[in-house]
Amino acid sequence: MSKRSLAILGSTGSIGTRALEVVDAFPDKLEVTALAAGRNLGLLAEQVRKYRPRLVSVQTPELAGELSRKLAGVKVAILSGEAGLAAVAGHPEAQMVLSAVVGSAGLAPTLAAIEAKKDVALANKESLVMAGPLLMERVRRRGVRLIPVDSEHAGIFQALQGRPVELVRRVILSASGGPFLHRSWEEMEQASPEKAAAHPTWPMGYKISVDSATLMNKALEVIEARWLFDLAPERIEVLIHPQCLVHALVEFKDGSTLAQLSPADMRLPIAFAFSYPERWDSSFPFLNLAEAGTLSFLPVDPEKFPALALGFRALAQAGTMPAVLNAANEAAVDAFRQGRIRFTRIAPLVRQVMDLHQPAALASLEQALQADAWARDQARRLIEHERD
Ligand code: MG
Repeated sequence: MSKRSLAILGSTGSIGTRALEVVDAFPDKLEVTALAAGRNLGLLAEQVRKYRPRLVSVQTPELAGELSRKLAGVKVAILSGEAGLAAVAGHPEAQMVLSAVVGSAGLAPTLAAIEAKKDVALANKESLVMAGPLLMERVRRRGVRLIPVDSEHAGIFQALQGRPVELVRRVILSASGGPFLHRSWEEMEQASPEKAAAHPTWPMGYKISVDSATLMNKALEVIEARWLFDLAPERIEVLIHPQCLVHALVEFKDGSTLAQLSPADMRLPIAFAFSYPERWDSSFPFLNLAEAGTLSFLPVDPEKFPALALGFRALAQAGTMPAVLNAANEAAVDAFRQGRIRFTRIAPLVRQVMDLHQPAALASLEQALQADAWARDQARRLIEHERD
């Protein structure tokens, strides 16, 4: 059997490194043909020596020069910047592309992969948030598969398997509730950038950890689910499930609900995407429900977690508004990380930027990127005024 060859966008990040652990677990089934990373040259050089891709890309030409010195004698092509990312996404030998760049920077290479007729394992939820209708239209036109890696969406995808969305009454995305679920507003207000990123169950990158603490991550996931599964927003709900073992539930019209469960380990949805439509024998830990004991579910408190409603509002306003929500949030999380705003300012700041935006119908990728840039500028301006 020939191996499935992978291109990985964001190979040194949280998802990228776990994806390579999945490659390690299935050496007879997977191989790596191209890698793209940002600035972590030490780790990327190690990955190149171990997985022997034909092509790698880094953020800048300077970094590419430095990497080629580190890799003297190793046969690998080294590119940089947006062109490099696009080349990795469209590498002729890659059958599947894992899109795991963080943030809005993932949109262009995800589209490049689709245009190059690659199946895409999608971990970069921002590309669907920013340009969901455009992305899905191109997926259909190119006839490729888009398999979600986000655990909730991988859960919906599995629970839905083979059934048309018309049979669905609603889907429920589970949310861990983050580190502040049982903390007071005052504690949230005083939270340090480190504390807000200390996720109770999933080890993840910085930005998504803070998004989990505000529940903005769930707002983005509602938008992601809307486009991935062509679900009307009123059919999407969110429940807090602190154990993070049930990732999503699909309720069908006849009153039957299918849930998808697995350990809180990102390697499982990654392996699912890489193996689809097969299922491979896992060497990762299996679920132990007797050990897990109680599974609990509770509604989201909208006052404590105002970010969630912003996701539904962005969908209702549609067009460029979801891109604005996403970009304003990225700017707000950056400002929080730098100690410039409080944790509890993140969602109100995003709302202020949305209030200033006149959404336009989304006709092109450029328009989504323009709305993104506009929202970042507005957020920065608001943050600077707060400092005066
Ligand atoms: Mg998720």
